[in-house]
Amino acid sequence: MYAVPTSLSPSRVESFTSCPLAFRFSSIEKLPEPASIHTAKGTFVHRVLELLFEAPAPERTPSLALTLVAQAWSEITASDEYLMLGPSTEEAEALLADATRLVEKYFTIEDPTTITPEGLELRLEADMGSLRLRGIIDRLERTASGELVVTDYKTGRAPSASYEQRRLGGVHFYAWLCEQALGERPVEIRLMYLASGETITAYPSEQSIRFLPKRTGAVFQAIEKACLTGDFRPQPSGLCGSCAFRRWCPEFGGDPSLAAAEAPVVYAVPERRSAAEQA
Ligand code: SF4
Repeated sequence: MYAVPTSLSPSRVESFTSCPLAFRFSSIEKLPEPASIHTAKGTFVHRVLELLFEAPAPERTPSLALTLVAQAWSEITASDEYLMLGPSTEEAEALLADATRLVEKYFTIEDPTTITPEGLELRLEADMGSLRLRGIIDRLERTASGELVVTDYKTGRAPSASYEQRRLGGVHFYAWLCEQALGERPVEIRLMYLASGETITAYPSEQSIRFLPKRTGAVFQAIEKACLTGDFRPQPSGLCGSCAFRRWCPEFGGDPSLAAAEAPVVYAVPERRSAAEQA
C-alpha cells in the first residue's frame, strides 16, 4: 500500500497509462533517475532563453544571448545534473556547441525584442477534485491585442504529423491550467522546435479542453486504486529501452522491492555515490 499523491503534473498523470510500475518508481517512490545529455541540453537552453527574456526588450540581441550562454554554462556545470552526467571533455564541448547552435537558431524563429513576457518558467497549479495539478510554462506572453500566448521550447526537431497530434493533446492541458489558475484561457500554445526552426501552434477552445478533467479524473482513480492495492503492473513497450528502472523491473528479471534502496546509490551524483558506497 502506498500513500496516494496529492499533487502531480499532467504529464505524470498520463505516464501512469504508459507503465504503472515506472510511474510507481518515479512519482510515488520518487526514486532518482540518471541524467542524460539530452535533458542537460534542455535545461541549459531553457535557462539561456529565460535569462534573455529577463533583459529589457531592446537588449535581447544575439550577442547578449552568447554572453548568457557563458553564464548559463557556468551554472549548469556546477549542477547535480551535470555532475551526475560526468561528461568527457569531448562530450562537454559537443553539448556546449550544440546548445549554442540552438540558441543561435532561436533568433531565426522570432524576434525576442517584440515579445512582452508575463511569466518565465511560470509555475501554475489548479485543483481537480482531491488532486492538485501542477505545471511549468516556459513563457507566457501578452500579445499587442491583449491576448495570452504560451510558448514551450523544444530542443529537438518537430515531430511527424501523427506524433504531433499526441503532443498537441498534452499542450491543451496547459490551456486548462492557465484558465483555472489565471482565469483566462490562452488563445495560442506554441511548441517551438529549436533544432528544426519550426513552430507548431495549437488553438485551445472550450471543446479542446472540456474532456480533460473527466479523463484525468478517471486516470487518477486508477492511480488511487493502485496505491491502495499496491498493484502497479509493468507494461512493456518501446519505452523500456530508455527506462531508468529496467534493472528493477520483473519483465527484465529485476526485483522491484530493491529499487528504493538501490536507486539512490546507483543514480547519486559522483561525490555522494562514493560516500554512500563507503558507508
Ligand atoms: S522496463 Fe518497461 S515495463 Fe519495466 S518499469 Fe520500465 S517501462 Fe515499465
